[in-house]
Amino acid sequence: MSKVKYYYDSETLSYKKIERRKGRRLGIVMLSILSSFLAGFILLVIYLNIPQIETPKEKTLKRELQNMKLQYGLLNKKMNQVQDVLANIEDRDNNIYRLYFEANPIPEEQRKAGFGGINRYKELEGFDNSSLIIETTKRMDILTKQIVVQSRSLDELAELAKEKGNLLASVPAIQPVKNEDLRRIASGYGWRTDPFTKVKKFHYGMDFTAPRGTPVYATGDGRVTRADNRSTGYGNHIRIDHGYGYTSLYGHLYKYNVRRGQTVKRGDVIGFVGSTGRSEAPHLHYEIFKDEDRINPINFYYGNLSPEEFDEILEKAQQENQSLD
Ligand SMILES: [Zn+2]
Repeated sequence: MSKVKYYYDSETLSYKKIERRKGRRLGIVMLSILSSFLAGFILLVIYLNIPQIETPKEKTLKRELQNMKLQYGLLNKKMNQVQDVLANIEDRDNNIYRLYFEANPIPEEQRKAGFGGINRYKELEGFDNSSLIIETTKRMDILTKQIVVQSRSLDELAELAKEKGNLLASVPAIQPVKNEDLRRIASGYGWRTDPFTKVKKFHYGMDFTAPRGTPVYATGDGRVTRADNRSTGYGNHIRIDHGYGYTSLYGHLYKYNVRRGQTVKRGDVIGFVGSTGRSEAPHLHYEIFKDEDRINPINFYYGNLSPEEFDEILEKAQQENQSLD
């Protein structure tokens, strides 16, 4: 029920109805809507201009985010250090170790290759800090791959070192008799006068003078392939197969200390000096074969000679004398 308002008209001395005009009512409604908007707008401007008031949770999250960025920065610095150390190892690997074992250096591109093909970092995209996280993850991945490549290289070198160790232990490298003052070199490899016929003949080994019974040593690791007197001229003789194409031969022995088929180590006593076979006096005739050819044993004493001693032995072995055969 709407209220009807009256006013007192003093001219007519009667109450009259107040007629409300429709237009005015609309105006009031419009005005109130407008003022609400205005108030809202002013409040918004104020809100946007005063410093944000954070909730405690927002504050905590913000601190955690800052801390995370800081930690990523530190991680990147640590990765720089690891990278430097690894670069140093890689450099030594290529230029010292691999060179020493005659393995090809590993190219830089192969060591530092990333991961091609599909985008491995897709799920890390779309965040404010995506680039930081993607870059860090990428570096870590490359670093990991570099370490795997380096590790494989070392495995390969360990194999090669073992092989080289075997080679070094096997190839003849010492003198076959004790010869501390080097007085025992009687005759070297080359043209020498034959003690029996007195004509020049090629002497394919080195003669070491020594009293009968002097111990004879294996000059490298290997397997005894012969210990008999069925080879013309050598008398009782021993042959050791050292592998890698090398065989050593010890002639004119008085007695054997090994049998055919036996494995020996460098320095083992294999027999004793004698004068059996075509021999003028007790001595050891020593030969080295490389791939069936007899080569000069002078180059195979480095294991227990100083450079000065080597010069002396070289000089003695080159003397144009008579061999003991
Ligand atoms: Zn000889």
